[in-house]
Amino acid sequence: MEYISTRSKSKPVSAAQAIVSGIAPDGGLYVPRSLPHYLPDPERLKKLSYGMIVKDVFRLFAPEFSGDEITEIIKGTYYTEKFDKEIAPCISVGNMEILELWHGPTASFKDMALQIMPQILQSALKKIRAGIKETVILVATSGDTGKAAIEGFKNLPGTKVIVFYPASAVSSLQELQMITSEGDNIYVVGVEGNFDDCQAAIKKILNDKEIKERMRAAGKRFSSANSINWSRLLPQIVYYYYGYSRMLAKGVITPRDRINIVVPTGNFGNILAAFYALRMGLPVHRLICASNENKVLTEAITKGSYNCQRTLYQTTSPAMDILVSSNFERFLFEMANRDHVLITNWYQKLDKEGNFTIPDSVRNRWQKLLIGEYATEEEADDALRETFEEHHYLADPHTAVAISVYNRYIRETNDNHKTMLVSTANPYKFPDSILIALGEKGESLVDLDEQQLVDRLAAKTGQPVHKAIAGVLNKEVLHQRQVAVQDIGAGIMELLSI
Ligand SMILES: *Cc1c(COP(=O)(O)O)cnc(C)c1O
Repeated sequence: MEYISTRSKSKPVSAAQAIVSGIAPDGGLYVPRSLPHYLPDPERLKKLSYGMIVKDVFRLFAPEFSGDEITEIIKGTYYTEKFDKEIAPCISVGNMEILELWHGPTASFKDMALQIMPQILQSALKKIRAGIKETVILVATSGDTGKAAIEGFKNLPGTKVIVFYPASAVSSLQELQMITSEGDNIYVVGVEGNFDDCQAAIKKILNDKEIKERMRAAGKRFSSANSINWSRLLPQIVYYYYGYSRMLAKGVITPRDRINIVVPTGNFGNILAAFYALRMGLPVHRLICASNENKVLTEAITKGSYNCQRTLYQTTSPAMDILVSSNFERFLFEMANRDHVLITNWYQKLDKEGNFTIPDSVRNRWQKLLIGEYATEEEADDALRETFEEHHYLADPHTAVAISVYNRYIRETNDNHKTMLVSTANPYKFPDSILIALGEKGESLVDLDEQQLVDRLAAKTGQPVHKAIAGVLNKEVLHQRQVAVQDIGAGIMELLSI
């Protein structure tokens, strides 16, 4: 399988090269040249383990990885004590099938990809034999990718990880998870700016010719652990098949049914993986893209106007506080019939003017397929509280955004297709926001430390505390670096002594 860029006719590359590079040299994103068909016979699919689906999907997208190689990689990730026994449980809650994707080591869905990605990257590096002594993984995080990348790459020989996070825009537990991280190859840096600033700075560095040259001279190379990297998306396709297989196995659906999939969305990576699964043959009726008050995607999807010239709101779902959703470019590329000139023009305009308009002729292609909606803070809080009161199911604030959007969709359409809703984080990452959504006064929480907040949530809801959170509460802070946005580049050079 070859990979092409969304922005030019530049030479196609192998899966290994696409994975090692992270981003295409023309600034575009790598996409597979064609999407393979994959839909096992329902009786077989029901019996497939998570790892077996990983293997199937991997072989289709990265045939240069041998079956044995992939088996080894899977053994090192999903089969170990790092995940709960059930990797991605599918829980019936009212009229939803909630697919919980946070049973890995850091309590967010990012683990589903970032536990396996480091091993994939190492294998890919061996394949292209680039003579690289060290791969430096640059990470911009809106809260969860940072810790998941750290856990994936911790102490992996030949790698360094540098994480940049918006210092005042992640939850205190997300921050604590990152700044207490051990590992000789781990650097965590707070940025006085927002996620979009961090992501833009990193994309720029990844494509800076002079810096790349200096890295090459030092035997080093950059890569990215963000979902611009194909190896982040590939493992995410898997759980949509797995969730579908659970729905079949439970008898919630028959093989003749199509399903809806609801995804709380930020960078458009998670939902893009669902879109690829649909294109590969998964029987999907509608994809529902749920945003919080930063509703850039809602407007782009419903009106065709993609406009990032606006205030970024800090919400209780920080991982979705994003204006520039990188992976939307991959989706537009497909919807624009892979017209790379069109994509390049749009994204150049976005760079210069902060907006672009998608013509109706393109937008019409997703009308029956992709729904874009958003929930206000109040609506998300209501959904969180009602779901807990009615079903005794505790959702985190990101998942609550999706539930709210889904409830409104049902009220407005009466669509009766069975629905998979993906839950992206464990609630204990956001104890204060959840306590407030459940009715506690914010003032009564300000003096509580993280441990006390977690205890209070546990007492109120009776939900078990995730091991990733329990384990972090008494750890020593090991990272205290802070930089301004404009110093991110210089900070990287200093850390790497290049
Ligand atoms: C990253 C993240 C999201 C957004 O996922 P995208 O792939 O960026 O759309 C949603 N919820 C949580 C908890 C996350 O960590």
